[in-house]
Amino acid sequence: MMPKKIMFGENAAKEFPYPKNALVITTTTPDIYNKWLDYIGIKNYELYDKVTPDPAIETVEAIKKQYEGENISCYIGLGGGSSMDVCKYLGKMTGIPKILIPTTFGTGAEMTTYAVISFDHKKKLLQDEAFLADAAIVDPYFLPGTPFNILRNSACDAAAQASEGYDSKLGNPFTKFFCKEAFDILYDAIVNDKHHLLPYGAMLSGIGFGNSSTTLGHALSYVFSNEGVPHGYALSSCTTVAHKFNKSIYYKRFKEIAQKFKFEPLKLKQPLDQAADVIMPDRGHLDNNPIPVTKQDIIKCLDEIVNTNPLAA
Ligand SMILES: [Zn+2]
Repeated sequence: MMPKKIMFGENAAKEFPYPKNALVITTTTPDIYNKWLDYIGIKNYELYDKVTPDPAIETVEAIKKQYEGENISCYIGLGGGSSMDVCKYLGKMTGIPKILIPTTFGTGAEMTTYAVISFDHKKKLLQDEAFLADAAIVDPYFLPGTPFNILRNSACDAAAQASEGYDSKLGNPFTKFFCKEAFDILYDAIVNDKHHLLPYGAMLSGIGFGNSSTTLGHALSYVFSNEGVPHGYALSSCTTVAHKFNKSIYYKRFKEIAQKFKFEPLKLKQPLDQAADVIMPDRGHLDNNPIPVTKQDIIKCLDEIVNTNPLAA
């Protein structure tokens, strides 16, 4: 599955024919999004700019209520993963079409059937065909000016998703084709400082892993996320160690990516045994891992992540 319409390349967001009375949903501040709105040239629209990172279901419901009866023609998610996830959930609830325009490139959320929404302050990864965008617009215009920390976290996530997706037991020749192509482009973009290639690589990664799944690297990473480590940063060591465990063809090159971005080693506050108990029930990731994983394996991987530096040469 992928969006019905994909517009890609320089000026794609400028050239898209936006319908009248769209509701633009964004996360950032007026000085930034006003430039974006000027660039895309949209007219006659409503704007909702109060989406915060890790959006909660209450935000989605508040937007639905606020614009009920206003004949909104479509939702436009303009920003990082949070604004796109809100659009995806809203679209599922109301049946109104959604156009997704990423401005940070890494999650590939504009391509996938996944959405992350918080319920009772707990992030939940949801999957539904109804979350799929009606149109996805991938325009590298939004890349320059992205703070380096956001860029490297996003790019690391895209590379982790492409390579874990390639190894996933749910993969097939079609998904592997996208994952392989995505990883090759992302590797070149990162290692050779060709950052303008990141949006295309992240987009292909989204199609590839979005139709297979991520695996052990992502499963390991969530105990670090729960302690406040950004997703892409947590993956730098977790996916490296997971690829080593899986004897993945991507081990060496993924590690090079993490080294190139100079990610620091990770720390974990909770005991490894307790963390392994949190990871083991994550069957969505672990069951799709190319080889079976025991609790002892998880503890060994976590030990390698926090007690050695897996990114050292
Ligand atoms: Zn990810």
